Amino acid sequence: MDNKLILAKQALEKSGFKAAVFDGVDEARKALLKEIGLGESVAFGGSMTLNDMGLYEEFKERGNDIYWHWKAEDGQSELRAARYADIYISSTNALTLDGKLVNMDGVGNRVSSMFYGHRRVYIVAGRNKLTKDLDEARDRIDKIAAPKNAKRLNTKTPCESTGECNDCDSPARICNVEVIIHKNTKGSDINIFLIDDDLGY
Ligand code: SF4
Repeated sequence: MDNKLILAKQALEKSGFKAAVFDGVDEARKALLKEIGLGESVAFGGSMTLNDMGLYEEFKERGNDIYWHWKAEDGQSELRAARYADIYISSTNALTLDGKLVNMDGVGNRVSSMFYGHRRVYIVAGRNKLTKDLDEARDRIDKIAAPKNAKRLNTKTPCESTGECNDCDSPARICNVEVIIHKNTKGSDINIFLIDDDLGY
């Protein structure tokens, strides 16, 4: 077990979040399926971590009402429906060793749902998302998360070819809103699942 995961868990708890560490994807997946009831509706934020874990398929097969714009024909109406789901599941672009969640978004649906509007939120993050502090978290977004997402989405923004943020003015820019969740927000129930594996970007 990577000791940084234990330190991150302690820091997150100090920030008021609930946190748990898992040895691998299977353990985390089982825990999520156990914690979320069959009668609860579930929405997903855009996330390669969740995609690779096959969680959407598991919840759908089990019979939960589930919303994910990545899997829907009409992404816009799926995004609207997702706002009213009981549960929101997402990953995070970065997570600092002093207990902050740091995220950049193009639309804003994912980052806003992380802290408001749902009964419970689950943030699933591999050990590769851990960063020392806020500066390193922003660096991770500029040099890893955003360029890789730009490539996946074929945005043709400068980072897609240079592999680094150029703070562009492109209409296809995917970095329009930055959200730092310093502490668990009042009335929120944010659960962070840390996994001892490299997941997503
Ligand atoms: S601001 Fe533009 S160049 Fe920078 S990472 Fe985002 S999309 Fe890429």
